[in-house]
Amino acid sequence: MKLHNKIILGLVLGAAAGVTANRLAPGAPWLTWVNSNVANPVGQIFLRMLLMTVIPLVFASLTLGVAGLGDVRRIGQVGFKTVAYFLFSTALSATLGLVLVNLVRPGEGIDPSVQQQLMETYRGQAQGLQSNMQSGFGINTFVNIVPRNPVQAAANLDMLAIIFVSIMFGVALTLMPEGRAKPFIQLLEALGDIVIKIIDIAMKLAPFGVFGLIFFTTSRFGWELLRSLGLYVAVVVAGLLIHAIIVISLLVRTFGRLSPLVFWKKIRPSIVTAFSTSSSNATLPTNIAVAEQELKIPPKIAGFVLPIGSTMCMNGTSLYEGITVLFLAQVFGVHLSLGTQLVVVVLAVLTAVGAAGVPGGSLPLIMVVLATVGVPPEAIAVILGVDRILDMSRTTVNVCSDLSAVVYVARSEGGWDPQLASREAVPNPEPSAAA
Ligand code: ASP
Repeated sequence: MKLHNKIILGLVLGAAAGVTANRLAPGAPWLTWVNSNVANPVGQIFLRMLLMTVIPLVFASLTLGVAGLGDVRRIGQVGFKTVAYFLFSTALSATLGLVLVNLVRPGEGIDPSVQQQLMETYRGQAQGLQSNMQSGFGINTFVNIVPRNPVQAAANLDMLAIIFVSIMFGVALTLMPEGRAKPFIQLLEALGDIVIKIIDIAMKLAPFGVFGLIFFTTSRFGWELLRSLGLYVAVVVAGLLIHAIIVISLLVRTFGRLSPLVFWKKIRPSIVTAFSTSSSNATLPTNIAVAEQELKIPPKIAGFVLPIGSTMCMNGTSLYEGITVLFLAQVFGVHLSLGTQLVVVVLAVLTAVGAAGVPGGSLPLIMVVLATVGVPPEAIAVILGVDRILDMSRTTVNVCSDLSAVVYVARSEGGWDPQLASREAVPNPEPSAAA
């Protein structure tokens, strides 16, 4: 059986076992024991194996990607296209979210007593998030992208800063005489290869890790919450599905000239990894492998677009943010004018760019948006109980949007022929993160 089929099997069996356990023995001591001694540890080890490769992978692939583009003007051109696509697709998804939430108005059906109860249960968790809340947007948001100390930025998993450092290294390499730059480029190529090998090892664990992560989530999930917040959850999931199936397919077809059917078929491993880890960062290694090996994207383009995308391109998150902010405004009876709703779209796009690609990465930023448009930030307590399921779903769309971006940039800049993706793999050369 192929690895990605095994992973899908892990996902399906884990979900089925978790839901069954939750039905038959909700909160039973043995279930808690299994979760804390088996399911969660196995899942966490898999997740950490992936996460530990992220910093070296981003540094190696992005620096090589930038250096591979050759000269600074070309880096600027490809970079501009990439970021323009990110912003365009993210704005589309935020707008779609706003339209849906205005049509369905899920917040108006929430019982005030349910609202009260949720606020009380999740207040503590919301306050925890609030301490992470950054103090709004300002010039410092941009200043902070330039780190004082790259090692510290890496230790804090500050991805925007790491992206900045990697781009600077790449630019510097292109400005140096070839002979002087070469040893470092070879070192990075070797680093990229090492990381890919580690990821290969981690992926052997994936079927079990995915089983553990999904079992842990589903066996503890509060299904009764789903009943009271059902309409809100349904609007988010429907929005994500519409965005993925219609909007991303159209973008792949028009901008990437690739058949959406081929696209969706080839990227299955990324979908499963994103869904089970709820983390764009943890899915980055799989995404790079999928882009290079399945879609046959040139490594210098995949290495450039995907690391930046895993932090900056979050279509699912912006759609989710737009819906959530309006939903909570409806629940708390705050009227948002059309102008304010446009502010929500802009903020949803900007905060989706700034959100960390980790589970729940966007939650502190949603509190910033809530506060900006006059909804009490603690209101987020209402939705925290169902966030994990929505996180899995929005992260999946985030990752698909990264791959749609790489298809577009590769087709328009990298001399990539979409036909290559449709051909079956030739007995394959070594996978490599290097250009
Ligand atoms: N978990 C999401 C991601 O990694 C970020 C978020 O929306 O919380 O892409």
